[in-house]
Amino acid sequence: MPGFTPGRRYQPPFMPFKRQPFKKRALAAIELAVKGPLFGCRMCGNCLLQETAFICPMECPKGLRNGPCGGSTPEKCYVDESRPCIWYKIYERSFQLGREALLLEVLPPMDWNKAGTDAWSDVFEQAGNVGVKNIVAGLTSGEAGSVSRTLDSIFRPVRQPDWWQGDSEYHAPKYSEPASELESRLKAGEFVVAAEVTPPLSINTDKLKQHIEMLKPYVAALNFTDSASAIPRMSSWACSKMAVDLGADPVMQITGRDHTRVNLQSGAMGASALGIRNILCLTGDSMTLGPGPQGRMDIVDLDGIQMLWILRRMRDEGKYLDGREIKHPPKYFLGAAASPFASNMKFQALREQKKVNAGAQFFQTNVVFNADALDEWLNEIAKRDILDKVYILIGITPLKSYKTAAYMDKKIPGIVVPKKILKRMETAKEKGDEQAEGVQIALELIEKIKSKQGVSGIHLMAVGWEEIVPRIVSEAGLGKRISSQVEEPARSSSKSQRSAQLVDFVTG
Ligand code: SF4
Repeated sequence: MPGFTPGRRYQPPFMPFKRQPFKKRALAAIELAVKGPLFGCRMCGNCLLQETAFICPMECPKGLRNGPCGGSTPEKCYVDESRPCIWYKIYERSFQLGREALLLEVLPPMDWNKAGTDAWSDVFEQAGNVGVKNIVAGLTSGEAGSVSRTLDSIFRPVRQPDWWQGDSEYHAPKYSEPASELESRLKAGEFVVAAEVTPPLSINTDKLKQHIEMLKPYVAALNFTDSASAIPRMSSWACSKMAVDLGADPVMQITGRDHTRVNLQSGAMGASALGIRNILCLTGDSMTLGPGPQGRMDIVDLDGIQMLWILRRMRDEGKYLDGREIKHPPKYFLGAAASPFASNMKFQALREQKKVNAGAQFFQTNVVFNADALDEWLNEIAKRDILDKVYILIGITPLKSYKTAAYMDKKIPGIVVPKKILKRMETAKEKGDEQAEGVQIALELIEKIKSKQGVSGIHLMAVGWEEIVPRIVSEAGLGKRISSQVEEPARSSSKSQRSAQLVDFVTG
């Protein structure tokens, strides 16, 4: 068991892709012999130990290098429940050692040319550039901060290559006109509603188009998931394009699980040209959740934070990741997921700050069932001074049954269903009234959330029950109202009939 890596499971070291000269091979063997037993080093060749409180992050089954995913819990990793989340351990130790500020630096994706090779020669070379005299003076001067400045002068250029240059700073968007309808309404101060639409499992788009038409009068934007739970469906960009054609504002979701650095950039460029102007960057659910056969599970080319960093620079600096200039840069409003209850809220808030620094302009949170507990997370976010830099849309799911509520509470990482709500759904089940109770709970939550400072809207995830969205939006006083005789307009009437039954009212 490596001395400095708590609860680590053995994973084999990486091998270099190309044959290395003898000197490099010898140095790599010595490095592995030293760092293997101490840190469980896997020889990724892009060492991050300085930033991660000396716990190697390459233990993470998703290979994440910028923090935990939304599925982490203090007890276990959701990809492999037999081990703890290594990122939780890194956060814990960083806070204990007072090194948490280091976790804000946006770290680059792997340079795979270096995988399996030694990281030490880069460090020695940089130490040579700084100069032995300067290093000794810096480490022994006794001045406040001198040691960390000296170490930073050696390790920072190694971990932040020229093609990345990540930092811990906030970078305000460099444009003024809103890129999308969603951004425009948020900037105008409207309490917005976004709703998720599940993409179809086949090429039949009738239901998809029906849902878009049905929901667009009620929402500011429609989210299309990107093969959620690693189950292939119609792509998010194809659904988003259909939404654009039908006059709705789509939020195209992109997962790091299914995108490499090359097609992230080409896809975002194409989407912007097609009029898709909201992009939500997600690391993505692990392949282990999918029905299989499963692809490689332990490596994502990019995590959500790296995706934001790349897309923001393409838009605001007009540059591809490789440094090539973009004559006509893409336009988009960038979003990310936030998971208030996934772990310690202090840890989550740090992670949300890193996303905002990388480029997130809006958050859509995981499903929330406890509006009161949300205050703690909002307080943590406020302490990190990001409430005025990001719009927050709280995730709401109308419960269809007691079974769904119990499943979400037990099985879905980051979702907590309070006992009181479980009890209400159980009682409603006995009375044969589950759906009505689920809607009532959603309305009560929205009512509480509406008054919270720092919250800019809600994100309705009806998960296959899209027909209920108009009723919830209307009864929550957030958009068009349907007549009292009509419960679920899409089911019961045509578009023109529905229009006649609608009474417009828009709240602030
Ligand atoms: S970050 Fe990479 S080089 Fe550093 S200890 Fe972990 S596997 Fe080894």
